[in-house]
Amino acid sequence: DMLTNAQMRDIEALLHPYTNAATHRQVGAHLIERGHGCHVWDDSGKRYIEGMAGLWCASLGFGDEELIEAAREQLGKLPYYHLFGGRTHEPAIELAEKIKELYPQPMARVFYCSSGSEANDTQVKLIWYMMNALGKPQKKKIISRRKAYHGVTLVAASMTGLPLNHGSFDLPFDFVKHTTTPHYWREARDGETEEQFSARLAADLDTLIEAEGPDTVAAFISEPVMGAGGVIVPPKGYFEAIAPVLRKHDVLWIDDEVICGFGRTGNWFGAETLNMQPTSASMAKQLTGSYVPLSAVAINQQMADVIEAESARHPALGHGFTYGGHPLGCAVGVKAIEIYQKRDILRHVRQIAPVFQARLRQYADHPLVGEARGVGLMGALELSPDRKSAATFKAPGKVGARLMSELLKHGVILRAIGDSLAFCPPMIITEDGVEEIFAPMEAALDATYSWAKA
Ligand code: PLP
Repeated sequence: DMLTNAQMRDIEALLHPYTNAATHRQVGAHLIERGHGCHVWDDSGKRYIEGMAGLWCASLGFGDEELIEAAREQLGKLPYYHLFGGRTHEPAIELAEKIKELYPQPMARVFYCSSGSEANDTQVKLIWYMMNALGKPQKKKIISRRKAYHGVTLVAASMTGLPLNHGSFDLPFDFVKHTTTPHYWREARDGETEEQFSARLAADLDTLIEAEGPDTVAAFISEPVMGAGGVIVPPKGYFEAIAPVLRKHDVLWIDDEVICGFGRTGNWFGAETLNMQPTSASMAKQLTGSYVPLSAVAINQQMADVIEAESARHPALGHGFTYGGHPLGCAVGVKAIEIYQKRDILRHVRQIAPVFQARLRQYADHPLVGEARGVGLMGALELSPDRKSAATFKAPGKVGARLMSELLKHGVILRAIGDSLAFCPPMIITEDGVEEIFAPMEAALDATYSWAKA
């Protein structure tokens, strides 16, 4: 096919994130022009349902007039300011208060950044700052999990547990260690119950901390549900088994709520759904419905106290971003939370999630599907040549990509993560919207299955 003028300009002008540049040069970009509700339109006028809310983030869909008005109003009043040197503005205060009020554990202070990656790097810096202040400069290692996704800046990418983010980048840094993925279907041994599997993973973590030396391990980081690792919902008793191991070794617990935060799993935060006991939390994406980039790090009283006491020894906290706590992001964040509350988005998610999850599980028996899984309004269909052994395809990612493009033809945007098809629609999606996502699924799976066999 001929490339359009925009596609040719795109090829010459952009280096695309998470894109194969050589393939891209051949097939060209997909130009998205506008959005409304749960739909987007491309430059040919074709309409798509956005089954991924962009990148797990456009929680209120596209074109929400209230969010747009909040942004417009803030732009007119104070389009930029910062929080350095003790300056502040009302949207920053109000949003931090809201975060403290909604988070399930008591949190003392909020530090703003612009992206999830920056928030997670900030977590590590604040923890190191704290360990130095406590006279424990050797307690700096961070434990993450294989298949975790925590972002792409150097430390966040190190904590991410995916080979693509490590290879060619000389990562992970040595101070980051990875432990077992809590994926029961793929990782459990024959005959192991979910509880036994969870206990084994907690023992793995304990062994790792013992081997590294508990006085060298500062923190454990976890997403409540792994998102970009393939929507991996931990099995029964997982975090309940992890918590005492962390307590025993005096290891802090970072909760990465970048995807799960603000209603995605049916509670305000995934920590509540999955029963985590974190000492700090990272948030982004749905914090603003993603109309404006903003992220936040919430820290507990102990961390806040140590950092404040330590500040007596320095001219200032040596950390902060020009755009951290941008008034536009904060104002839109305040408005997004107000919308979640007044439109009772939690109740809506709890009503629509069972419909969505049931629909997803209808494909669990399809010969191409290994596992159908999810919680709240996120889910995945993992494709496999053999469900029973959780086998992977000979050429990983090809079948997933094929299914994704099959669905795209039918006007459905979903994302293939390797051979897992991920779902994360805007939280405002209706039953009709769920139906629109799944309508072409059977045919697309059948077509992909025939293609894969041939
Ligand atoms: N943490 C989680 C759980 C994420 O899913 C992501 C992005 O998808 C990040 C962190 C990184 O966020 P960003 O892409 O805004 O840097």
